[in-house]
Amino acid sequence: METNFKNIIEFTAYFNNEEVCRKHFEQVRFAKGDFCPHCKHDKIMRFADGKRYRCHKCRQDFTIKTGTLFGESKISLQKWFIAIYLLTTSKKGISSVYLAEQVGVTQKTAWYMDMRIREAMKQGKGKMLGVVEVDETYLGGYSPRRFGFRKKSAIMGMTKRSGNIRAFQIPNRETHVVLNALTKNVSKDSHIITDDAGVYRKVVKIGYNKHDSVRHSRKQYVKGNIHTNSIESFWALFKRNYHGTYHSMSKKHLQRYIDEIAFRFNNRADNLAEKFDLATLKISKHGKMSYKTLTA
Ligand SMILES: [Zn+2]
Repeated sequence: METNFKNIIEFTAYFNNEEVCRKHFEQVRFAKGDFCPHCKHDKIMRFADGKRYRCHKCRQDFTIKTGTLFGESKISLQKWFIAIYLLTTSKKGISSVYLAEQVGVTQKTAWYMDMRIREAMKQGKGKMLGVVEVDETYLGGYSPRRFGFRKKSAIMGMTKRSGNIRAFQIPNRETHVVLNALTKNVSKDSHIITDDAGVYRKVVKIGYNKHDSVRHSRKQYVKGNIHTNSIESFWALFKRNYHGTYHSMSKKHLQRYIDEIAFRFNNRADNLAEKFDLATLKISKHGKMSYKTLTA
């Protein structure tokens, strides 16, 4: 089910009441036919109020949110849709304080909403193959005065040329950690491009087809096709989100922020409606996620 809006005016004019939102989400969720979220049976009946369904087989009732990332939340779909719109289209992300103000919920509720949408924005798996740029960075710093030495978070990123980037938290930037992450995410038949950091010295030795590097230490950034500009542009965007909006990201939830920013980066060529549709579809397919799991 695709939407067709060009800006926030058209978006809010279309999703202007709960019933329209519910019908839209029903079409997204049952795009391939009706099914019961409890037992997957394909025959369900609709109650006259339009809000509830009952399975013909297991006889259990459900709503359009049951078994999705929306869960059984009392938050209206209209609020959810605005949250999805904001999070998928804001170049620098949105804080839970801002979302709370915009849709009229508490900050705690907004945070939980944000986290569930981020869950739907999770990055893909599978091994990358081709010309792949690989790099790592640090996030945050330390404030020796008040809190003592606070360790920075290490993030590793990789991108196939003109493909999606993938980024994730790593415990540190030691050679075995970096090479391990590389092996898990990139096929050995790939051509690896990195900077001249020592951790990449053994890339060919561990079985990679080809490895080239640019000597950042000597201020060399591009050597023909050999550069890490794609992954660097992701780090730049990531840091704009971090400094401009989030200011801090707890180590515990850092991966969710990375997923969110990677989602916007990988879908940056899509229009607003396409980004909204993609996230909404993923939410409909993902099982529910409880507040407990998030905060455990
Ligand atoms: Zn059922």
